[in-house]
Amino acid sequence: MTRTPSLPTPHKRSATFALLALLSVLGLLASCGSDSKDTTSSTSTVIDSNRPLVIATTPILGDLVRQVGGDEVNVEVLIPLGADPHDFEPSAAQAARLRDASLIVANGLGLEERLESALDGAEKDGVPVFEVAEQLDPLALGLDEKEEHSEEEDEHGHAEETPAEKEEDGHGTEDPHVWLDPERMATAASLVATQLAATTGLDAAPFQQRAATYADAARAAETEARALLAGLPADQRKLITNHDALEYFAQRFNLEVIGTVIPGGSTLAEPSAADLSDLVTLIKANNVKAIFSESTVSSKLIESLAREVGSQVSVVELSTDTLGEPGSPTATYPGLIVTTARLIANGLSGR
Ligand SMILES: [Zn+2]
Repeated sequence: MTRTPSLPTPHKRSATFALLALLSVLGLLASCGSDSKDTTSSTSTVIDSNRPLVIATTPILGDLVRQVGGDEVNVEVLIPLGADPHDFEPSAAQAARLRDASLIVANGLGLEERLESALDGAEKDGVPVFEVAEQLDPLALGLDEKEEHSEEEDEHGHAEETPAEKEEDGHGTEDPHVWLDPERMATAASLVATQLAATTGLDAAPFQQRAATYADAARAAETEARALLAGLPADQRKLITNHDALEYFAQRFNLEVIGTVIPGGSTLAEPSAADLSDLVTLIKANNVKAIFSESTVSSKLIESLAREVGSQVSVVELSTDTLGEPGSPTATYPGLIVTTARLIANGLSGR
């Protein structure tokens, strides 16, 4: 996916366009300059035109790139905190800004559905675009897929599945929500470090060192999350989610996604009345105590589903596709993983 870096194509811009671009940059910095409690990483976003510019698509990837890049790069994040990455469309100024980057770090696998043409355009103009998710043993979309793989083989089982076998499975696409597995994010940090060194020409060692620190924090969060979920009995480890965001989390922590309100791996489709009625039956049959909405997606449908079921079930909101506002429990990546585990453990046990 990565291309040999070359100098961005120079653009002639009108005064209005330049102003729009400037406003957009200021907006980006205002919305993402302090999304981490780690002051060393957030203060490093001060503009220094001598540093290479790295643009990340999502706040979660932006946080990773900022931590791995340290003071050596300027990091901007395209998708604002709290916005739905499946649904985010860039302005003309934001699309133009992409061409100023030394490197763009995107999730890929169709997550940034409405950003794709802007990313393609930048890549055609010579900006390297690193799509991290496809490098992380992605899971195929679809609820039946994960049943073919036990937890023990999740590290390697998918790597052994050839693309041809995936075709035979009938799944054309892969699940983009790789970041909800801390192990995959630990790997992602190292991959991003390699890309940063390759595209900026800077020494790889400090990038890899900071990637190792990021990986340690991700694995510490994984241990804490595992402990929080340990008390849930097998018959209560069943997830019903608003959109299909939690397959990676479920596989890592031995949970099972048994249903989703919005079909497909995105947030842009709509369920049928029959789908919703099937979910009511499923929730009742499994005595599910909580179902999970996401902070980035309207909870209207899942709330009405819960009303249909009755007092047995509550709707618990998770932050799956974005980080939380600064100071909130999900403002950092480890916080996101631990908070998700805590809300799921409490919700499914009826606490
Ligand atoms: Zn999502």
